[in-house]
Amino acid sequence: MADDHVDVLIVGAGPAGLMLATWLAKCGVKARIVDKRGTKIFNGQADGLQCRTLEILDSFGIGHRAWRESNHMLEICLWNPDSNGVIHRSSRLPDTIPGISRFQQVVLHQGRIERFFLDAINEFSNGGVAVERGVLPTSLEIDQSCVEDPEAYPITINLKHLSEEDATPKQSSTMSNGISAQDGLFRSNLMADDTADLLKTSELNQKANTTETIKAKYMVGADGAHSWVRKEIGLKLEGESTDYIWGVLDIVPITDFPDIRSRCAVHSANSGSIMVIPRENKLVRLYIQLTTTSKIQGQDSRTDRSWITPKVILESAQRILSPYKLDYRKLDWWTAYQIGQRVGSSFGVHDRVFLAGDAVHTHSPKAGQGMNVSMQDAYNLGWKLSSVIKGHSNRSILKTYEFERKAIAHALIEFDHKFSRLFSGRPAKDIMDEEGISMDEFRDAFQKGNLFASGIAVDYGRSLIVTKPVAENAASEATPATTSTPVTGIQELAPGLKVGQRIPSVKVLNQSDARPWHLQERLPSNGTWRLLVVPGDVSQSGQKSRLEKLCGQLSSPESFLRRFTPNTARYDSVIEVITIHGASRQSVDVFDFPEVLRPFHEVDGWDYEKIFVDDHSYHEGHGEFYKTFNIRRDEGCLVILRPDQYISYVGKLDDYESADRFFSEFMLPQNNLTLPKV
Ligand code: FAD
Repeated sequence: MADDHVDVLIVGAGPAGLMLATWLAKCGVKARIVDKRGTKIFNGQADGLQCRTLEILDSFGIGHRAWRESNHMLEICLWNPDSNGVIHRSSRLPDTIPGISRFQQVVLHQGRIERFFLDAINEFSNGGVAVERGVLPTSLEIDQSCVEDPEAYPITINLKHLSEEDATPKQSSTMSNGISAQDGLFRSNLMADDTADLLKTSELNQKANTTETIKAKYMVGADGAHSWVRKEIGLKLEGESTDYIWGVLDIVPITDFPDIRSRCAVHSANSGSIMVIPRENKLVRLYIQLTTTSKIQGQDSRTDRSWITPKVILESAQRILSPYKLDYRKLDWWTAYQIGQRVGSSFGVHDRVFLAGDAVHTHSPKAGQGMNVSMQDAYNLGWKLSSVIKGHSNRSILKTYEFERKAIAHALIEFDHKFSRLFSGRPAKDIMDEEGISMDEFRDAFQKGNLFASGIAVDYGRSLIVTKPVAENAASEATPATTSTPVTGIQELAPGLKVGQRIPSVKVLNQSDARPWHLQERLPSNGTWRLLVVPGDVSQSGQKSRLEKLCGQLSSPESFLRRFTPNTARYDSVIEVITIHGASRQSVDVFDFPEVLRPFHEVDGWDYEKIFVDDHSYHEGHGEFYKTFNIRRDEGCLVILRPDQYISYVGKLDDYESADRFFSEFMLPQNNLTLPKV
C-alpha cells in the first residue's frame, strides 16, 4: 500500500486521538495521526483518571505508569457554612465507591497521560506510527459512490505542513509572584478558534508551505471542541453555553486549610464555591467559579478576558476559604473557561468519518469527565474500526459507535447540568430559603454522581453486539442493525455479569500453576473477542458431559472459532476461549479438559494460560468468582465478551447454536470453506 493511502487518518492528538492511535497500532492497522500543534502539552489541562479509564489503560499495559505517578484521591470532604456563615467540614466520603473496581480515581496531568500513549503507540507499531505535528487538514472530500465498499478509499484529504512557529501556541505573558506560568488559554473556549489563522499564517510562510494529498478508508476527527472535521462534514454541537465562568489554578499552596490534601467541594455563604483537587508533586488544583458573563457589563467574555488573571482567581479562592489563609509559592498552570454543555447532532457521516471526544461533546470539567469520556469514545470505536478494516467483521458494527456513545454523551450532559447547578449555587440558609441549594441534596447528588463519574455504570443498549432482551419500549428505541431473529441470552444464569456493562474483575487462579490473576488482566485490549466458558463444578458428571458436548462443537472444523479465524492466524487471534471452572483446583488436572480449551500450538506447545479456577490462592485470598457473580456451580454459563471487555451475551453452557448465531450476524468467514448453514 502506498504511503498516500491509509486505513485511518486521525486528526488531533489529544487524549481521544491518542487512544484511537494506540488501539489501531495494537491491532496492526495502518494509521496516521496529525496535530496542528508543534508539541504535546506539558502541564495543566485535564487531570482526573476515573477507575474505568485506569482499567482501560491497564488493558494496554500502561495503567501501572499512571497508577504509580499519580496522586490517589481517596476521600472527598464537603465544606459548607455553619449557622454563623463560617465554613466547616460537614461530611467525609470515599472518593471512589468501594468495591466497584480494582482501581480508584487518581489525578495526573494530561501531558503525562499523552506521554504514556505516545510510548505505547511507538512500541505497538514498532516505530511505524508517530504523531505528525504541525500538520493540519485543509480540505476533505468523500466519494459517496463507494462508501459501502469495504476495500474503497472514499476519503480524499489535503494536509498542510506548518512551520514550527506557526504550530506553537502563543502564551499570554503571565507573571505571578515574579514567576511566569504556562496557561491553557490557547485551548480555552474563551478564545476564538485559531485554525483559520494558522492556515493563513502558514500560507505566507514559504518554508512551511508544503501540502500532500492522501486517501483514507476512514477518518476520525478527535480535534477538540472547535473541531475542523465536524464543521467540514456539516455537523453541529447542540445545547447551551451556561453563563458560569470558571478559573483554574495549579499551585503548590501555602495554607492552613486542613483538608488541602483531600478532594473538597467548598460552598461559602456568599463568596461562591471552590473544588480542591490534590495533585501529584505537591500540586493542588483549584476550580473556582469567578462570576457570570452577564456581570461583565454587557461585554462578550470571549473577546474580553483580560480581567481574568491568576491574581483574580487566587483572591476569589481566598474569599471562599476564609477564615483559612491561602497563598502559593509556585504557580504551575492556570486557565479560565466558560461552561458549555453540548452534544453533536450526529457522531459521524456514512460510517466513514467519525467524531470523538470534545469534538462531539463539551461540558464542565469539574467532575473530571472530559478526558475520560473522550478516551472512552475512542476506546469504543478503535476495535470496531480495526475489526472491519482487517476484514473480520462487516461494516454493520460501526453503527453501534454512535448508538452507544451518543447515549453516554447525553447522560454526561444531564449529569453535568445537575451537578453544575448544585455546585455553583449559593447554599441555602435554612429550609425556607428556596433560592439556595440544599447541602443534603448536594451530598446525595455527589454520592450518586460518583458511580456515573467512575465510568463503571456505562450500560450499552441492545444491538447486534449486545444481546439484551428486547425492551418494552423497543419500538421507540434507536437500536442499530439487530438481527431479524435476535439472539437473546439468559441473564439470570449470571446475574452479576450484566449484558451491556464491562465485566467486573475478581481474582481467579491459573489451573496449571496456581498463580492468581485479576480476570481483567487476562483480557488485554488486542482486538480479540472472548468466549468465557464457565462450566461450574466439572468434577460432577453432569457438568462434565455438558462441557464435553460444547467442546465437541467448538472443535469441529465448521465451528465459529475456525470459520472466522484466518488459516494463517493464531487460533486465539479472533476469538479466544477462556475457561473458569468451579471444581476445586486439586480435584482436576489441566489435561482433564478438552483440547479446544488448551490448544496445541506447533511452536509453543500446549497453551497453559487458558484454564482458570475459582479457588483459594496460597497468598492472595479467594476471588469467589461464582459467588460474586451469582453463578450456580451445577449450571454454569457461556459468556461472550467484546474486545473492549463489555459483555455481549450470557447463555446456557451447552447452547453452542446461540453463540454461533451471535458471531455469524456480523463476522466474515475467512477460509473459503463451504459451510453448512447454521
Ligand atoms: P483535545 O484534548 O482538545 O485535543 C484535540 C487536539 O486536536 C489538540 O491537540 C489540538 O491541537 C488538535 N487539533 C485541533 N484542531 C486541529 C486541526 N484542525 N488539525 C489538526 N489538529 C487539530 N477535563 C478534565 O477532565 N479536567 C480538567 O481539569 C479539564 N480542564 C480543562 C481546561 C480547559 C481550558 C479546557 C478547554 C478543557 C479542560 N478539560 C478538562 C477537558 C479536557 O481537556 C478535554 O475534555 C479533553 O482534553 C478532550 O480530549 P480530546 O482529545 O477530545 O480533545
